[in-house]
Formats: sequence, C-alpha cells, structure tokens
Amino acid sequence: MTMVRPIPSLPQLHVDLDALLENFRWFERQAPNSAISCALKANAYGLGIKKVAPALQAAGCDIFFVAHICEGEELREILGKNPIIYVLHGLLTHEAETLLNHDLRPVLNTHQQMDVWRKQGKGQPAALHIDTGINRLGIAFDELETINSSDLNLCLIMSHLACAAEPAHPLNAQQLQRFTKVIQHFPGIAASFCNSAGTLLGSEYQFDLARIGIGLFGTLALEAELGTPTMTPVARLLAPIVQLKTLHKGQQVGYGATFEADRTMQVAVLAYGYADGLPRTIGPDTKGWFKGASVPLLGRVSMDLIVVDLSQLDQQPQVGEHIEFMGHDLEPFADSCGAEPYEILTSISPRVQRIYQGEAA
Ligand SMILES: *Cc1c(COP(=O)(O)O)cnc(C)c1O
Repeated sequence: MTMVRPIPSLPQLHVDLDALLENFRWFERQAPNSAISCALKANAYGLGIKKVAPALQAAGCDIFFVAHICEGEELREILGKNPIIYVLHGLLTHEAETLLNHDLRPVLNTHQQMDVWRKQGKGQPAALHIDTGINRLGIAFDELETINSSDLNLCLIMSHLACAAEPAHPLNAQQLQRFTKVIQHFPGIAASFCNSAGTLLGSEYQFDLARIGIGLFGTLALEAELGTPTMTPVARLLAPIVQLKTLHKGQQVGYGATFEADRTMQVAVLAYGYADGLPRTIGPDTKGWFKGASVPLLGRVSMDLIVVDLSQLDQQPQVGEHIEFMGHDLEPFADSCGAEPYEILTSISPRVQRIYQGEAA
C-alpha cells in the first residue's frame, strides 16, 4: 500500500496498479502474436508516469512510446537503460544529441527528419511513420516510392488508425490495405499499426507491435460492442466533502445562480473544481457516487468547488467523506461532460493527490 499520507481537503486520484497490470495482460491475450508496448505520453495519461511505468516494466513491458523528447528523458531516468523508448514527435534539427544521450529512438515523421537522423543519429535505430490516412504525423502514403531509407537503421515501421474506435468505419480497412503495402516496402522490419481500439479490430490489424494507451487505464467504449470482457477500471477520483448544507425552495447555487432548488434539499460542497480537472462542461447527467448511489451535480463548476445533491441518498455522508467520480463510470462521466475519457484523465491537475494501490504500488 501507499506511503502517501492523504491530505483531507484535497481531491485524491486513486490509481490501482494491479488493475493496470490486469489490463496490460488482457491486451497480451487479445494480441498473442504481437508484442505489447505502452504509450505513456502526458504523464501516463495523467495517472503518474513515475509509478505507472515501473509497474508495467515489472510486468514485462520493454517497449514504450512518449510524445516528446523531454518525456522520453524522464522515462529513461525512471526505467533505467534496458527498455526501448520511442519518441512519437520525432526530432527537430538540434535534438539528435539529446535523443542519443538518453538512448531514445525517434519516430521519423518527415523526409527532413530522416535526413537529420541520417546525419546526426550515429547509426542508432529509429522508427519510420507512414501516414495511411489520418493526415497527422508521418510521411504520406502517396510518397512511399520517394522514401530514401539508405544509411538509416530503421527498426520499426508504424502507422496510426484514424477511426479505430468505430469498427465499422471504412477508413479502417483502407488504412489496413495501405499499411500492408507499406510494410512490403520494408521487408524484415517490424511493423506497428494499432492503438488500444485498433488491437480489437481483428488479428489482421495487429502486426508485430501494439501501442496501447487508454486501454491500460481500463476504458474502451468498444469492448461493449465487441462483446469482449469488461476491462478493469484503474482510476477513481475521490472528492472530499468540505461542507454540508440544507437548501430551501427558491435558493440558488453557485456562480451565475444557475440552479434553483424547487424543494428542500440536502447538498454537499466538494473540494473538486475545474482547477482539479473537473470539466466546466458538465451536463444534466453528470454525477458522482456515494456508496453505490448517484449524486447529481448542481450549478456551475467553480475553480475549487462544486455542489452535489444528496437528496437521493438513504444514508447521509459526513464532512470529510468522499464523493467518487470516474471508476466504472469513466466513460458515461466523460460523455456527460461532452468529453473523451482521454481528456478527462489527462486533465486531472497536479493538485490532485495521486495515491497508488495494489501489489505493484
Ligand atoms: C497515443 C497513441 C497511441 C495510444 O493510443 P490509445 O488510443 O490511447 O491506445 C498509439 N499510437 C500513437 C501514434 C499515439 O499517438
């Protein structure tokens, strides 16, 4: 268990590292012929790379992806010399030395980046990113014939799906067809095509290496559609109750007085606001949980506080107890805020105390 002493007035993010590893192993079973790498950009999707990365390493993961070189430097420091670390954003002209100093592998996204690494990469390995249809990073598929990979030590050919979370989208099959052509161009080099959702599109999508991000944290809307077993939630946000009060009919709540009580109501003021990562875009269905019962949010989200309605509860909570957010409810919670689970997790601010649980903590 954790050594961190919770600060009673702060919101806490409980991260269950055992659940994280269950999800990692779940992906190993979904793609038994692929290696599973972990995409831990943005501080491991907000959950805390210092704890998340070593837990995955101990579970056998030895390939990681980050977005930025500085994230790679931090990860190298955390994991030591063995794991392979790829930097998705590649490199600018003056960054080759930093990559080399920390044994980071750039993902080369342009002809120019290929040139820089050819000249400055000292023959060290790099990945090549071909854009098969997302039109974000990577050399366009149309330019495949023009790619000059001489004097480059390419160890991975990758591409990224635009619509993996929508299995029926025609772009998936089109990207797969293009990627199949791409890898014929680079015989003998390992291929990586799928993020979490892509991995579940079928074995023909899986290739040598999967890049798993959001799925590690137990959220994947797709799973219900596919009828695959439920993943294990990893993150629960616990917002402390800092004040209880009774509202009377006609009284209003919060900035702008946007909520008005139509009856007598028991409410709680929580120390959880947009400065902690609670979206200001909450909707009528946004709710927290107390002992299995839901508590709706009332009025506007302010910087440090939100008010919730306790009227539906059989058992009234006390000041200092917590209202829970996310957990099993992460996807509906994100939906109700008009956000993606990715945004919800990566928006949890540094002020929120991370508390790690499980054997691996
Ligand atoms: C973030 C990212 C991933 C992981 O995506 P998830 O949807 O979180 O699994 C994989 N590949 C690339 C290129 C990424 O940017």
